[in-house]
Amino acid sequence: MIDKTTDPGTTSRAVVVQARILEQYDQLGLAGTMVADGLPMTAVNLWAAGRKAARAPFGDLGADLSPFPYALIYPQDEHERFLIAHLHAAGVDVERRTELVGFDDTGRGVRATLRGPDGSEQTCDAAYIAAATVRIRAYAKCSLPASPAERTRMCFTLPMSRRPAR
Ligand SMILES: Cc1cc2nc3c(=O)[nH]c(=O)nc-3n(C[C@H](O)[C@H](O)[C@H](O)COP(=O)(O)OP(=O)(O)OC[C@H]3O[C@@H](n4cnc5c(N)ncnc54)[C@H](O)[C@@H]3O)c2cc1C
Repeated sequence: MIDKTTDPGTTSRAVVVQARILEQYDQLGLAGTMVADGLPMTAVNLWAAGRKAARAPFGDLGADLSPFPYALIYPQDEHERFLIAHLHAAGVDVERRTELVGFDDTGRGVRATLRGPDGSEQTCDAAYIAAATVRIRAYAKCSLPASPAERTRMCFTLPMSRRPAR
């Protein structure tokens, strides 16, 4: 697990965690803590020029579909720290100031080139490379298709496309 930054993020773009993510975390025993610390988004209030203009109640969006029938408000930077803490508890620490600068498909796995904190480069053989950033899709020469549905599928499948080494 590597990241080119020195520290975890301190800002949030994502505001809510969707039900499907909570369902997957539930399989790992992580959902309970997150739900306890988060806030179900039950409604949105819209304001215009300092006056409340509208309220859109969501209710239980996924009732009868999910044990987590809501979007959970849980900021992205807190989410990142949450995952880092659980990774640490599982014996995995993020290697920081380490940048993926390229990779090759060896046929049996991936040979990644990593630039470390001192600027030197080394290779790392791995079964898979898993990442979702635009830059890494660019390394893999994967362009995003036009339709949102196809885009979603691409985002989730292509960056994790290597066979395990045996
Ligand atoms: C305005 C906005 C609102 C959003 N709202 C929501 C929301 O409400 N709910 C939701 O689920 N999603 C939301 N999203 C989407 C969500 O923010 C992204 O899907 C999510 O941040 C992607 O996570 P990620 O870990 O793949 O990428 P990032 O969060 O971008 O993290 C990528 C990490 O990889 C590191 N990195 C990048 N390149 C390299 C490299 N070459 N080598 C090593 N490390 C590298 C970066 O330092 C960074 O730490 C929103 C996005 C935006 C822009």
